[in-house]
Amino acid sequence: MKDCIFCKIILKEIPSHKIYEDENVYAFLDINPVHIGHTLVVPKVHAEDIFDISSESWAHVMNVVHTLSPIVHAATNADGVNIIMNNKRSAGQLIDHAHVHIVPRFADDGLKGLPQHSENSEALTTMQEKIKNTL
Ligand code: AMP
Ligand code: ZN
Repeated sequence: MKDCIFCKIILKEIPSHKIYEDENVYAFLDINPVHIGHTLVVPKVHAEDIFDISSESWAHVMNVVHTLSPIVHAATNADGVNIIMNNKRSAGQLIDHAHVHIVPRFADDGLKGLPQHSENSEALTTMQEKIKNTL
């Protein structure tokens, strides 16, 4: 898609530190990593986010995430990895071309996850029904 930075990276119109490419998927190092080795995995067919991507394209992306995660983990000597996808601005998405982050994590990196809270059973049941009824 015109004016999409990740489409331009895929088309090699702008440079990237590519680590993997096949017919359907492109993977490269994040230019502003949480830790070096932080990798972005993107579908070659432009889609905005999880709500827009086809199930076929998503399956290709997830297969590559599955292949690359242990490789990034080993290459960075990380203790673990986070697999993250941000969808929409409210969830932290900055680039409107669907992408999955593979983020190397270290036991002593001091980073915290999203804050959570305990929820009562009644509210959980109400939400369970709402989600199930939308399936
Ligand atoms: P998100 O907030 O999930 O949309 O993440 C977008 C990511 O793309 C950020 O982590 C950026 O650091 C990264 N990014 C933006 N431009 C580039 C680029 N030209 N090359 C590599 N990574 C990029
Ligand atoms: Zn794009």
